[in-house]
Amino acid sequence: MTLERVLVVDPIDGEYVADLEVDPPYVVGIKKRGISSFLAIAMPGFVDPHVHGCFGLSVMDGEFSRIEERLYSCGVTGFLATTISSPMDELVGLLEKVKGYRGLSFLGIHLEGPYISKERAGAHPREFVRKPSEEEIEILKKYPEIKLVTFAPEQEGSHLLFDLRGVTLSAGHSNATFSDFLHSGLKRITHFPNALRPLHHREVGAVGAGLLLEDVNLELICDGVHVCGEMVKLIYKMKGAHRIVLATDAIPTTGLKDGRHSFAGVTVLVEEGISRTPEGNLAGGACLFPEVLKKFEKFTGATLRELAAASSYNACRELGLKDMGRIKEGTPADVVILDEDFNVKMTLKNGLIMYKKL
Ligand code: FE
Repeated sequence: MTLERVLVVDPIDGEYVADLEVDPPYVVGIKKRGISSFLAIAMPGFVDPHVHGCFGLSVMDGEFSRIEERLYSCGVTGFLATTISSPMDELVGLLEKVKGYRGLSFLGIHLEGPYISKERAGAHPREFVRKPSEEEIEILKKYPEIKLVTFAPEQEGSHLLFDLRGVTLSAGHSNATFSDFLHSGLKRITHFPNALRPLHHREVGAVGAGLLLEDVNLELICDGVHVCGEMVKLIYKMKGAHRIVLATDAIPTTGLKDGRHSFAGVTVLVEEGISRTPEGNLAGGACLFPEVLKKFEKFTGATLRELAAASSYNACRELGLKDMGRIKEGTPADVVILDEDFNVKMTLKNGLIMYKKL
């Protein structure tokens, strides 16, 4: 298949108009056209490290393949199925389901909680929030499907999480001080700066650390609700797009109509697309990936190349996915075709058309 006259956006090689030749699963040829007009934009498929569900489907119910399907319509070619703080037997039950699942865009599990701070639990059920124990970490070690863990590094026993192999560790739902964060050695913060100790001028906490420390990646729910436009701009200005990882934090109610819903034992009220708990806490992302990308572009004025980094390449890099997040000869053809307003026209996974807008 040849995608003719597309504006190829690669986070490293930049932007150019070309004919893109795809032979599943790879990009096998790129013929530069030397012109500036193009028919569509071709970006690396979006990679979302934080998905609890969408369109009424829940990760906690093990609906991986249906979630994959729906995410292709959003241009997502890689995602981490994200858990919520739960009893151990429930988590193990889910991890057992994952063991037998072979999806194309399913990259593994993001364990969000239960080892988080009760003070910063947000929508996580507090009764299941706990400190890490040796017994539980020994069980988790049996599941290489776990790729990312979000936890509060200031908690007693959090050092145990560093024993997990092949896992990216991330601070989140944390009350860490600047010093707690610095001494943890962590290089990533989940849905920055949500569910963290607020920045104070005498204790900047993990928010200050995330902004100040150059080598820390910040996951960002850029839905215009979790973080306002000015804050997004501030983060972009301080860190640059190369340290930002866009995420949706989509939950089963994301993409659904307004109303009262429930998932994983939590009641969620959706009003004007925004999901909240009955207490008024934000329960999850208000937008799907294309909207997150549009808002990030609007708030920051980021270049296409920067957008490709923040929406795909940076997440791949921190998860150790070497060939992903690029559009380059010899790499897997995970490509999202967009119009000039960033609406998804087509999604390719391993060179196969998984979604096409009619
Ligand atoms: Fe969260």
